[in-house]
Amino acid sequence: MSLIKLKKEYFDCKLCPNLSNSRSKVVFGSNHMKKCKVMIVGEAPGKKEDELGEPFVGKSGQILNMLLGEIGLNRDEVFITNTVLCRPEDNRNPKSDELENCRNRLDRTIEIMNPSVIVSLGNFSTKYLLNSKEGITNLRGKIQIVNGRKILPMFHPATLLYNGMSEKLLKQFRTDFAILKSFI
Ligand code: URA
Repeated sequence: MSLIKLKKEYFDCKLCPNLSNSRSKVVFGSNHMKKCKVMIVGEAPGKKEDELGEPFVGKSGQILNMLLGEIGLNRDEVFITNTVLCRPEDNRNPKSDELENCRNRLDRTIEIMNPSVIVSLGNFSTKYLLNSKEGITNLRGKIQIVNGRKILPMFHPATLLYNGMSEKLLKQFRTDFAILKSFI
């Protein structure tokens, strides 16, 4: 199975009636569809992602691009996706049945991509991928192993937006991205 075939399978996915009715586009993942050592899993597509069909193309995406650039990675060298493929209305958190419906797709994406490391961006994605209740503040920057896969939890880039690009936070991001750099 290739990633392109998997993407086709989900092109018109109707597993979640609410999400499939309200979405504009299924946001499968980075459009380049290349195999990458680094896979990044965010929470869910936002408004802009839903319009354009690509993850992290809004303000959080600009911050993510900047932080990747600082460790010498351009966006095309990582594969970005989310816990769910479709935008939840009003940017609410994905519901447990929606996460469950999208789990097989994420597992298969990871299988095909076989990344050296998976970055879980933010509390939501981290709790989901680690199946843990522990918060991101404790887990960030510490490699976790789940089913033999390395997962590196990080704050969500939107945190920087909510905190006025705080220097302290930026420093923490840079520490975590330096860990990511050791995998490339
Ligand atoms: N935030 C996310 O978690 N994912 C996106 O694709 C965009 C913003």
